[in-house]
Amino acid sequence: MIVDLEKCTGCGFCVRDCPVGAVRLVKKKAVIKESCTDCGACIRVCDPGALVREDVPAAGAVQCDACPIVCWIKPGYIGACHRYKNEDKKLVRVTPLHTYDMVSDVVGPDPIEAIRRPLITAIGAGTTYPDCKPAPAIVKGKKRDVDVVTVVTEAPLSYSGIMVKIDTDVPVGEEGAPVLIGKRKVGMVVTEQYGSKMLSIGGVNLLTGKDGFAVARTITDIANQKPVRLKIEGGSKIEVQVGQTPIINGQRPDNMRVGCGSATLGLFAPLLLESADEVIILDSHVTSLMSEHAAGRFVGARPSGVKLKFEQSTPGRYFGDHGEGWGGTSIIKPVDVITGIDCTVARVGMRILITETTGQKGVMFELNDDGSLVEIPISENARKALKAISSSCEPSLVSAIYMGGTGGSARAGVTLYPVKLTQAVHAAKANLTVGGAPVFVLPGGGINFLVDVGRVKAGSFYWTPTPATICPIEYTMELKDYEEMGGHLEAMRPFTAKKPISVVD
Ligand code: SF4
Ligand code: SF4
Repeated sequence: MIVDLEKCTGCGFCVRDCPVGAVRLVKKKAVIKESCTDCGACIRVCDPGALVREDVPAAGAVQCDACPIVCWIKPGYIGACHRYKNEDKKLVRVTPLHTYDMVSDVVGPDPIEAIRRPLITAIGAGTTYPDCKPAPAIVKGKKRDVDVVTVVTEAPLSYSGIMVKIDTDVPVGEEGAPVLIGKRKVGMVVTEQYGSKMLSIGGVNLLTGKDGFAVARTITDIANQKPVRLKIEGGSKIEVQVGQTPIINGQRPDNMRVGCGSATLGLFAPLLLESADEVIILDSHVTSLMSEHAAGRFVGARPSGVKLKFEQSTPGRYFGDHGEGWGGTSIIKPVDVITGIDCTVARVGMRILITETTGQKGVMFELNDDGSLVEIPISENARKALKAISSSCEPSLVSAIYMGGTGGSARAGVTLYPVKLTQAVHAAKANLTVGGAPVFVLPGGGINFLVDVGRVKAGSFYWTPTPATICPIEYTMELKDYEEMGGHLEAMRPFTAKKPISVVD
């Protein structure tokens, strides 16, 4: 790679996007290091066109043909996807090929059925390109007296993304708001799930858009369980790492909620009735009022005359709002949720407990004879009820589901008749796994799958500057089914756990 110093403006975009850190700025001019692989990522982000490929490859460089980038990798260095290394002018896969036994502790319990567990995983397998070549490893072995074949490849997937689940009530941003890395859009906030905020990162349109390198890197880092700092436009700054507590605006939420405000009341109504005459559970979705709620009436709560500021959905259930206050609502001072008290119904000395769906915060008031509310210490019974709620909450964690579509050309490495592979996957005759982990295959056409990255060995995902994310894909099926679908039998090799095969690219 050559830098045209006249054209280079020192913007640093090449430094930011080079996948192997092969560019630095010296006196505001790009300088290319020896580790450059000629992947061309920097050319695509250099608006003034200051970067130009050299005509002649460097001495000792070997061209990798495992993906369309076709890196020239110099001796001792790695390719743009970090998978291949030039060792003595030969390309080798940096990570060894993993058998299932090497990842079974991460994947989880061993399934019973023979084809549910691959013989080998695609971790360390490498890729073949173009796709009509047989996949890099096709192995045959016996499992529970059944002849089984596993076909593996590290598939570069442009149709890929990751759904990040953040277990918290703490608001992160408006639904639909862009999710940013620095100033670059990598995803968006999508609708919440029960007790969790959800971010969709990547997808083909963002991956192939102007910020595609940042998108590919973000998906891969999250899938590899690395910490990633995100910013929601108009919302929070979040640090996410799969399996860890999220950090939202510098704070770590302890727990996710036990349920919405209505569910919390339904779960703990007997205890709550013992703790106060009236209970309000603040929640951004459904805020509940015990005396009106069916669960409250069932356990014998009496009318209190308390009126709430939110709009009623059904008796005792009110639609909340979103904000920085209690229960993810806009209510900062809990008493402000009460807009009035009907003194013809209320009783002097009546006690009102206000809490939220994690039970972590609580405050108690007593009704004076002049109709005002005075804060009083939390009663012992109220403390017990709050403890019961908070101890029923699960810890606030980040998890993520990688989503990919592998129903395209990558099928050609498995079989001569790609639609037969798709049909076999949907008929559960060919079992798709990712790094040995089970997947959920979306119904309908194609092979679109979801996998919990927490069950895939950390570090098994990569990205390439096409840009696409690279996912370890395994298909396992009975030998007779592989023969029937027109599999690449000529490329099949025997596998026994005692003598694992190696992959040389
Ligand atoms: S060609 Fe690729 S490896 Fe070389 S400097 Fe540019 S981005 Fe980095
Ligand atoms: S990105 Fe990786 S697979 Fe693609 S050519 Fe470069 S080293 Fe090979």
